[in-house]
Amino acid sequence: MTPLQPIRGTGDLIGEDSRRHRHVVETARRIAATYGFDEWATPIFESTSVFSRSLGETSDVVTKEMYSFTDRGGDPITLRPEGTAGVCRALVSNGLTQSLPQKVFYAGPMFRYERPQKGRYRQFHQIGIELIGPAEPLADAEVIACGWSILRALDIAADTVLEINTLGDRESRAGYRAALVAYFADHAGMLSADSRVRLERNPLRILDSKDEGDRRLIAHAPVIGEHLTESARRFYDDVRRLLDRFGVPYRDNPRIVRGLDYYDHTAFEFVTTALGAQGTVLAGGRYNGLVEEMGGPPTPGVGWAAGIERLSMLLAGAPEPAAPVAVIPLGEAAESEAIAVIEALRGAGIRAEMAYRGNLKRRMERANKIGARAAVILGEDELARGVAQVKDLASGSQRECSLDALVASLAEPG
Ligand code: ATP
Ligand code: MG
Repeated sequence: MTPLQPIRGTGDLIGEDSRRHRHVVETARRIAATYGFDEWATPIFESTSVFSRSLGETSDVVTKEMYSFTDRGGDPITLRPEGTAGVCRALVSNGLTQSLPQKVFYAGPMFRYERPQKGRYRQFHQIGIELIGPAEPLADAEVIACGWSILRALDIAADTVLEINTLGDRESRAGYRAALVAYFADHAGMLSADSRVRLERNPLRILDSKDEGDRRLIAHAPVIGEHLTESARRFYDDVRRLLDRFGVPYRDNPRIVRGLDYYDHTAFEFVTTALGAQGTVLAGGRYNGLVEEMGGPPTPGVGWAAGIERLSMLLAGAPEPAAPVAVIPLGEAAESEAIAVIEALRGAGIRAEMAYRGNLKRRMERANKIGARAAVILGEDELARGVAQVKDLASGSQRECSLDALVASLAEPG
């Protein structure tokens, strides 16, 4: 039989990959908690309308990338392509729109039908935070600062640059939209087919196109600056002033728009040059219209998501598991006694592995192979005397230790 393969664009997390992944999630969870974010877990599939309504009918995600299917009951279902829509849906379904602010951290798999390549998969994983309730620029700055702190804790902040922009308020965008339509309509012949559709339905979206030809046009497209209302400009100035207070370096990039429809005001990305074309590691913005889309009252929000695979690739390494203690029983009676010994070690938080088979030499080889720091050898003679031989595998020295004192003598230093 031909061996079964994973689906294209999916992968297994094993060994070092798994350790890196977990290091990212655990670090992010810990730092987000210091900023007051609590973890939520929402389902990985939702009614398709949760995403089609909120992400925007012309977004790439909705038009091309969603894993949607009809379930056995005939309901339209989609595997979540991102986390924010589900969190806002959960906020509304759980009646939490009256208990604001809500500060949410999440981590988990997302699904998009994309062309797989380095840093771009069909099942990938994100961490993210959402701060729902506050409309103040301080919330935007704090959310960005939390992302920055996580990158710093992962020791990859120096490899990234924060690029920020504003999409303004509704009024700013109306003027900007008109300017964009005028510009792109003049060059419609040079636009990709996708972007010609966007020109009709959502011209701002063209700015997010990855098409080469589109990108050349976009480079000379009008920027939102001159279309900002007084209050939208002040909001953006405040966000940047507060970022200075948080000590987060940034640079303005008027080309940054978010790929989804629900954003306004602040948009930002932490980008790196270390990953080739897939350079955005963490991206987000303010979404004041989204909760309302989910059937809740008008409720402001701001947040970001980061791709765990991309963050993992930037890591220098991940913490190794603690070196274990190998327990080596010799003979049947010893094996029975070894169970009590090894469970006592584990009960004290010591990583301990049983040597299953072979003579003493083979079992010692195996203990070395798994990187054990010590071997606890239990023979019939030792058992009769209530002791074990403890061999330090780094120094090679061996000593006898009473079973009563074993746990204390093998406790991890520190
Ligand atoms: P891109 O421009 O790279 O397609 P996006 O705008 O679609 O990204 P978001 O929806 O903002 O991405 O998702 C936030 C982050 O999630 C991205 O910055 C990236 O790190 C990660 N990400 C998005 N899509 C994928 C994917 N298919 N595979 C791996 N990581 C991804
Ligand atoms: Mg994308």
